Amino acid sequence: MNILTTIEKRNSGEPEFLQAVNEVAEYIIPFIGENPKFEKYKVFERMAEPERVLIFRVPWVDDAGEIQINRGYRVQMNSAIGPYKGGLRFHPSVNLSVLKFLAFEQTFKNSLTGLPMGGAKGGSDFDPKGKSDAEVMRFCQSFMTELYRHIGPDLDVPAGDIGVGKREIGYLFGQYKRLKNEFTGVLTGKGFEWGGSRIRPEATGYGLIYFVQEIFKDEGKTLEGKVIAISGSGNVAQFAAEKSIQCGAKVVTMSDSNGYIYDPEGIDFEKLAFITNLKEIRRGRISEYINAYPSANYVADAKPWAVPCDIALPCATQNELNETDAQQLINNGCRFVAEGANMPCTREAVAIFNKQKITYVPGKAANAGGVAVSGLEMTQNSLRYAWVKDKVDDRLKMIIRGIHATCVKYGKEADGHINYEKGANIGGFVKVAEAMIDQGV
Ligand code: GLU
Repeated sequence: MNILTTIEKRNSGEPEFLQAVNEVAEYIIPFIGENPKFEKYKVFERMAEPERVLIFRVPWVDDAGEIQINRGYRVQMNSAIGPYKGGLRFHPSVNLSVLKFLAFEQTFKNSLTGLPMGGAKGGSDFDPKGKSDAEVMRFCQSFMTELYRHIGPDLDVPAGDIGVGKREIGYLFGQYKRLKNEFTGVLTGKGFEWGGSRIRPEATGYGLIYFVQEIFKDEGKTLEGKVIAISGSGNVAQFAAEKSIQCGAKVVTMSDSNGYIYDPEGIDFEKLAFITNLKEIRRGRISEYINAYPSANYVADAKPWAVPCDIALPCATQNELNETDAQQLINNGCRFVAEGANMPCTREAVAIFNKQKITYVPGKAANAGGVAVSGLEMTQNSLRYAWVKDKVDDRLKMIIRGIHATCVKYGKEADGHINYEKGANIGGFVKVAEAMIDQGV
């Protein structure tokens, strides 16, 4: 039986996970064919099976005094090159399939950074939307009351993802510290005052733009004057927008799960500060933007892929950009797509980009800046030291340049076009696969 059939049989009913595996397999199976040692040691099949999956009950009491029950998870996918590392996602869409896909992607992404981090992901179907601060705190404390025994600074280091930001990391860290009676770098994304790294909040969004700059540099271009469509309005989208504006580009869209805003004049620093305050402090909806800036449009129940742009940066969530969106973007002049979110483009959308030679960069390369600075936070915690902002930012740029170079090395095609998906998958695979062979079965 071929490798994929075995994996598909073992994981039937997990569509997101199989989508992620199939994407990687498209490039890795031919590569394995040319490098038989990987086939002999069944490395790909082993990589598609998590080393450990934890599922646990998370009971908590809401503000009305009623007991609520959620499900908690941690998928420890691969520890061949370092301790498990990856974010926690709190969102009603969270299930085992979603977290396995994210943990699988994380293994390749973390490998690409060049830092010693294995792959993991976790979270819960808990919905932070509409919950009070006290409810979020009680939920986080209950979640950590089980998770703490399975993680540690040399074992598994979680961080944030959708629905988990600085506030949640604080509550989780506080509970870990109470239970373990130790202060260590067990989580990343911490506050600067208590072991967090400078640039970690900005890192995913900044890294995304640094990656696009690398591509443009090779073509002798800059971002000056380029029109950029961004989806999402969370951490990744906000800092991708900030860096884009700093580079002289014009950001025309941002969105949330209800709809998107289109501001043809461009979102400037002042408007972006409004969005940041709206999302981080008031936890409001993006539609409120047009009350402050009436010249912009709000489009409900739609994604921002119908607007004219040069570059599209999907920064919201998985499968948010399908084949119709892809074709619409191309018809409206878009030539670059880089993923700030994890797997936001469907396989059909990517097929359209590849066929029409649109530069497409998958999340595992384009959004690796976040986990890269998490890795630097671990380094600083081990040193019991905190680097200044510029030092972290320089290291981030260096890591992104390295990832870009790896993608070019493995992804350059005969006609000179760079297939970043191929480059990222093979580049991420080789290091993990070699380590797995070295460490035996
Ligand atoms: N959740 C982020 C990601 O998708 C960051 C993970 C981390 O910093 O560990 O890469």
